[in-house]
Amino acid sequence: MTEIGVQELTGMVAAISAAITEARDELNRLDSALGDGDHGTSLSVAFADAAAKVAALDQPTPTSILSATAQSLMNRMGGASGALYGTLLLRAGMTAKDKKQLTHEDMKTLWRAALDGVIARGKAQPGDKTMIDALQPAVDAFAAGASLDESFEHAAAAAGEGAQATANMVAQHGRARFVGERALGHVDAGARSIAVMFAAMNAYWKESQHGEA
Ligand code: ADP
Ligand code: MG
Repeated sequence: MTEIGVQELTGMVAAISAAITEARDELNRLDSALGDGDHGTSLSVAFADAAAKVAALDQPTPTSILSATAQSLMNRMGGASGALYGTLLLRAGMTAKDKKQLTHEDMKTLWRAALDGVIARGKAQPGDKTMIDALQPAVDAFAAGASLDESFEHAAAAAGEGAQATANMVAQHGRARFVGERALGHVDAGARSIAVMFAAMNAYWKESQHGEA
């Protein structure tokens, strides 16, 4: 299949929820070094809520799946980052309006709008040691892919590399900005969670296409 519909989106939310739960302690540890140590816990609670809400949707559409997920992130994560992750999903959902299936081109548009939404809301630029440092390379790599397969694969790799690169950055936003140079050597928790999400989407997509994880 070369398009993404309700079944794939539902599967991806569940796959992200499982992957974030698995990464919860690691994400908390990363956030402990630079912030308040809650990132893994709050994200896993929010995605578990999202997966349950999405599974219970009456007549799901791509937009209703993405906006239900956005609602869970905003309500269950709270704080500045809940608004940022919520904005990401809300803006993604707006691009899907009235569509039953999302093509490769639709998905490129969706990710670009999601990235633009997070930048508009949080005012972070690449290099500021935030989730943007994983999201922007992922969205660029996704856009450059020749197929959905390639886009998901390259986006997952780029998000992972982008997250790793935050270890060499000093934070300019959020609680981590108070840490200053002591942030060097530590990967940003939000960048890492974005990498976990793209890895989970890629694995789900591969499995649903080729029967391999
Ligand atoms: P909180 O700081 O409220 O405890 P979390 O721990 O859940 O929130 O998330 C922290 C993450 O949010 C950071 O690691 C960073 O990636 C991301 N973040 C913080 N401020 C911004 C911003 N202005 N723009 C983009 N991402 C941000
Ligand atoms: Mg935190």
